[in-house]
Amino acid sequence: QADIAMYWAKQKGRDNAQFYTPEMANVATRRFVLEKEINQALATDQFTLAFQPRVKGEKTNILGFEALIRWPHPSRGSVSPAEFIPIAEESNLIIKIDEWVIDQALKQQKLWRDQGLLIMPMAVNLSGRHLVSDSLVTYISEKLAFYEIQGNFLEIEITEGVLLQDIQRCIDVMIELKALNIKISIDDFGTGYSSLSYLRRLPLDILKIDQSFVEECGHHSEDAKICETIINLAKSLELEIVAEGVETAQQADALKSMGCDVFQGYYYYKPLQAHDIEALLTNKTPLI
Ligand code: C2E
Ligand code: MG
Ligand code: MG
Ligand code: MG
Repeated sequence: QADIAMYWAKQKGRDNAQFYTPEMANVATRRFVLEKEINQALATDQFTLAFQPRVKGEKTNILGFEALIRWPHPSRGSVSPAEFIPIAEESNLIIKIDEWVIDQALKQQKLWRDQGLLIMPMAVNLSGRHLVSDSLVTYISEKLAFYEIQGNFLEIEITEGVLLQDIQRCIDVMIELKALNIKISIDDFGTGYSSLSYLRRLPLDILKIDQSFVEECGHHSEDAKICETIINLAKSLELEIVAEGVETAQQADALKSMGCDVFQGYYYYKPLQAHDIEALLTNKTPLI
């Protein structure tokens, strides 16, 4: 408990809280704090979603969105998902979080549709633990039915690490998701360990090139060659390709010249709140 008190004291006045500190090296302490806080966050509606548009070719041509969780913590400032998701993944808490995200993402689409807005596909991130759990497909199909959203408006993003688990189980779940018309993408592609034969066996739709490769793709770099290789791989496997973390016109142009024109990144849009998306969808604000 003293550790926790010290941790809280340290966090005071900081903008971005960090869950994992040396004081929390003790796994039990870390889990204790996190589980309590995440359960509280779920119970008291602390989480929100941000939505980052995905565009084809240019800013005005929005294809869909990625839902990204946000945690404006009541006393500790904004806690990054890069911080708490990996820790939540150590326990079944991640399933509660992912379910909350799926529910909210579909609810938001229903709200937009009820407002008469054109709804678009929404991608949600899913942890590997969740993909292979027994409850996923039932949960998703019940939520789709409840909000009256068709499966083709939902996309599931998973990382390559997921595929290191029981591959046959992954394939079986993916086939069930495909039966609901849900799209499946591999997120952060190129940073994991998936073998090419896995890619061929899985019913995938999209590869998302990790932003670490996109960063240097505008220069004649090794990373540019990696981007080009991933794009060609996607083409030969007949997969769609999305570049994430596009921050400059130079990167976008380089990617276009390699044959990739679907982008997500700050150059086009940062993750936005729902009301900003509404303005975009209704064209109330110019698409600057
Ligand atoms: P990700 O799924 O690869 O999401 C992309 C991350 O890149 C997001 O960070 C996004 O805000 C950020 N990003 C987008 N465009 C740019 C850009 O141009 N430049 C830079 N520097 N960054 C950009 P975020 O929202 O902090 O999320 C980090 C990671 O946390 C996500 O990576 C994803 O793995 C995980 N995550 C976020 N939301 C969820 C969720 O609802 N469930 C699960 N399981 N994981 C989530
Ligand atoms: Mg993602
Ligand atoms: Mg990614
Ligand atoms: Mg990432």
